[in-house]
Amino acid sequence: MKLYNTLTKRKEEFIPLEEGKVKMYVCGPTVYNFIHIGNARPMIVFDTARRYMEYKGYEVNFVSNFTDVDDKIIKKSLEEGVPAEEISERYIKECKKDMADMNVKPATTHPKATEEIDGMIEMIETLIEKGYAYPVDGTVYFRTRKFNEYGKLSHKNLDDLRSGNRSLLVSGEDQKEDPLDFVLWKPKKEGEPFWVSPWGEGRPGWHIECSVMSKKYLGEEIDIHAGGEDLIFPHHENEIAQSECCNGKIFARYWLHNGFLNIDNRKMSKSLGNFFTVREIGEQYDLQVLRFFMLSAHYRSPINFSREIMESSKNALERIVTAVSNLKHLEETAKTANVTEEEKELLKEMAVYRQKFEEAMDDDLNTADAVSAIFELVKFANTHSGEASSAEFIKTVKDEIISLSDILGLLVDKKEDNLDAEIENLIAERQTARKARNFKRADEIRDQLLAQGIILEDTREGVKWKRA
Ligand code: AMP
Ligand code: ZN
Repeated sequence: MKLYNTLTKRKEEFIPLEEGKVKMYVCGPTVYNFIHIGNARPMIVFDTARRYMEYKGYEVNFVSNFTDVDDKIIKKSLEEGVPAEEISERYIKECKKDMADMNVKPATTHPKATEEIDGMIEMIETLIEKGYAYPVDGTVYFRTRKFNEYGKLSHKNLDDLRSGNRSLLVSGEDQKEDPLDFVLWKPKKEGEPFWVSPWGEGRPGWHIECSVMSKKYLGEEIDIHAGGEDLIFPHHENEIAQSECCNGKIFARYWLHNGFLNIDNRKMSKSLGNFFTVREIGEQYDLQVLRFFMLSAHYRSPINFSREIMESSKNALERIVTAVSNLKHLEETAKTANVTEEEKELLKEMAVYRQKFEEAMDDDLNTADAVSAIFELVKFANTHSGEASSAEFIKTVKDEIISLSDILGLLVDKKEDNLDAEIENLIAERQTARKARNFKRADEIRDQLLAQGIILEDTREGVKWKRA
């Protein structure tokens, strides 16, 4: 499997540190609000990477943090007049719900920054001892000049960056030795959460959190570190500096970054106000549609969000779901059980779609081409299955579609139970509408069900339904 490594700017063959195992860290969200669909992109694409590696037989230790101490959380807690912890706990819960609805698997560990403060103090102490950090009046800075490789991930011209930030030093606003030095620990301000440290009461900087949580749950050297491309500089550059100077080892071998989710060609972000939360989208679409939309593009390409694209994603996903549902029906009504010789040949031919799927995923997780392989398989299924097919043939084809979709975390096998529950709910709503003499709504529901192939019958024992 090849992965594009931001560190080397090349696609490289993936070789894990330990055979058969993957240690992977993905920077998680700051929890001060509902997550937006831009934040959902790294969740979906790196969950898919994990699923694919698990499919290939790797045991994946997947760690993703929650940043639960931050200026934005504190601001929100002051606005609401509740402790910061109440804000972060609330949005961690909401985030986990959104993840489940997008079929993003829970991480092996979801550490929270506030529960790892001791480890952060320890790492900062080591960095000071080794001469890589220095305290000034309760603030501790990282000494970037001491780390020769600073800048290796972002490939930026550091001298340009330095001169761009020099004005701060000149004006005396900052007590840094170098404009690129960054904060490891900062003193508390009135009303803010704080922890006791050798440098006074305060709280950690953002970057140190990930270095510490990654080390604690995955070890000093890991295989993959991932996040959105806005994290390359300074966040990931700083994580490398902290971890490599503290541990004396290469921090992460492969650095993976997803492109932005844009709206009108601008990055979707809270600060620009041009965002939709996952929750909002979930009210209009099954979140499988959102997942499908994200996977229809390569994870490193920018993607533009729009209603039209959600509608076309919905229709495209529906084509797979319908194919599976039709195959199920054919399987149940098949007149013969076992595959014929001719069908055996067809099944041999079918293997080509899984091959195409794997080739695409092995090429830097090209989910767009993997999805195309599933569509080719659907076309094959629609062409070669019919009332004369054997149950075994139909089942094999159906299982192949479900299996490939499942590797991408796409649920295309609509469970009859869920479907039944949906129908029952609509029937109950129709009864309520009729009682309230809202015949327009009652008729709408009957027509909607009819469009799904469900016929309603009014009987003495109540409303019954059957498939057309
Ligand atoms: P934040 O809570 O802003 O730290 O973001 C959490 C994760 O979402 C990070 O990996 C970001 O890079 C990623 N992210 C934020 N906005 C977008 C966007 N519009 N498109 C893609 N990824 C994003
Ligand atoms: Zn991070």
